Amino acid sequence: MRLVLVGPPGAGKGTQAALLSRKLAVPHISTGDLFRQHINDRTPLGREAERYLDVGELVPDHITNDMVRRRLAEDDAREGFLLDGFPRTLQQVDVLSDILAENGAELNAVLEFSVPEHIVVARLLSRGRPDDTEDLIKHRQQVYRDETAPLLDSYTGIHVKVHAVGPVEEIAERVLGTIAMPHRTSRAREKPQVRRP
Ligand code: AMP
Repeated sequence: MRLVLVGPPGAGKGTQAALLSRKLAVPHISTGDLFRQHINDRTPLGREAERYLDVGELVPDHITNDMVRRRLAEDDAREGFLLDGFPRTLQQVDVLSDILAENGAELNAVLEFSVPEHIVVARLLSRGRPDDTEDLIKHRQQVYRDETAPLLDSYTGIHVKVHAVGPVEEIAERVLGTIAMPHRTSRAREKPQVRRP
């Protein structure tokens, strides 16, 4: 199962991705987490990326793409993955489709997490990450609208909009419902079958 999660900052993608990764037995690959790990480890990539995270800008495509390419080449991502926060630009869409084509693989679905802006802003303000100040939150929402939301048009046929307000488990069920076959048993609920796009 190869899924991409798209949504504005604060849409709850990270929480859902962690839950879904357990239910679907595929690794959760979050570019934001990868960057923060590099920053913590003080790697050269981390030092470069930090300048962008600090101001709520996207890390340049070439840096992001190389990091994702390396991560997707790891063994655990061979059979599937849940990409959280990538792609975020049209150029990243192209790179992801190249990587998939090289591996003869396809995405099963691109899940758009839809949440009204006032709710995501309130969630982020309560989260308190260093890039969660009011100005940076507003800026990151703008970056999402300008650079990321348009890429959903590239995924006609596999783009699925998920109403992402409500209890975490309920949202996960909604997601699984969109990617599962209609006749689910309780066992199939754990490992849903895929409706091929
Ligand atoms: P996130 O944890 O997804 O909210 O990402 C935190 C920050 O990491 C973003 O504000 C960007 O600075 C950077 N980032 C994460 N994913 C990407 C990406 N696909 N392209 C560029 N920058 C990214």
